[in-house]
Amino acid sequence: MKNQKINGKTEIYGLIGWPVEHSFSPAMHNAAFKALGIKALYKLFPVEEKNFDMTLKELVASGIKGFNVTIPYKEKIIPYLSSLQDELTKLIRAVNTVVVKNGELIGCNTDWIGFTLSLQTTKIENKKVFILGAGGAAKAVAVALAYSKADNIYVTDLAKEKAESLVAHMNKHFKKSKAEYVSDLKSKEAQEKLKEADLVINATGIGLREDDPALVKPEWVREGQIAYDLIYNPPLTNFLKVYSENGAKKILNGRKMLLYQAVEAFKLFTGKQAPIKVMDEALERELYG
Ligand code: NAP
Repeated sequence: MKNQKINGKTEIYGLIGWPVEHSFSPAMHNAAFKALGIKALYKLFPVEEKNFDMTLKELVASGIKGFNVTIPYKEKIIPYLSSLQDELTKLIRAVNTVVVKNGELIGCNTDWIGFTLSLQTTKIENKKVFILGAGGAAKAVAVALAYSKADNIYVTDLAKEKAESLVAHMNKHFKKSKAEYVSDLKSKEAQEKLKEADLVINATGIGLREDDPALVKPEWVREGQIAYDLIYNPPLTNFLKVYSENGAKKILNGRKMLLYQAVEAFKLFTGKQAPIKVMDEALERELYG
């Protein structure tokens, strides 16, 4: 379907958050709709906190079929939902995808699926993982890692109580993986755990700016480690540079996670298989020109 006209029959999807202007989701979803000939449009809905309640009601009343949710609403949306789709979403306690059916809102977290699929051949079972940051994304990642049977999950965050709360939550719900709070990176204990880890993940926003610090020092890196930065833009953060320059086996950025969380959201929105290659190419064009 080429240059389709938007009219009353066009299904509307979108992204709710603040800010949202830099999102790559419209490019991926609209390319997928076009490729499959679905008469639908994915739009951005920048919503200020004070307007959240009203905008949400208006969108549902207007007949929106589904939407993604981003910062700062992934937890705030939960009381508005009729149900959470699956057990892992319940454990993560944050929702990034909502399907609207007969006025009912069903919430799901596809970030954890996106993260798991993005690992591809990287095995997690029986591995030690260190997560920097204990915010929304770290929660989805920690649950995904425990679900994949990681041995140890070390967590640090500038806000001690955030990291401790995530660790307690993980240990309550997962028996095989042992979560452990690690104090700030300047401590000897943290540096030893960092070296011990098979996989080190940056789940902070540090690295979004090219001149952000690397968070880790070369002397805290062990040869053969895997480093994963959830950030995808810039594609090579200073965090990933430190690992790649000090013998990492593999470095990964968040691009594939972003792609696969959208792929899973698309399946939930439409009930159809997503055209992954089309979405991947749209993301690539949008991200890196
Ligand atoms: P968030 O909720 O703000 O969490 C980030 C956490 O990291 C905060 O608790 C923050 O503490 C902490 N932090 C900041 N600097 C730190 C440091 N030096 N050491 C330890 N902890 C530190 O953000 P989020 O939603 O989880 O997102 C985190 C990152 O993941 C962002 O860069 C985001 O773009 C990325 N992300 C990628 C994808 C993807 O699909 N690839 C999906 C989701 C998120 P304070 O609050 O005290 O600053």
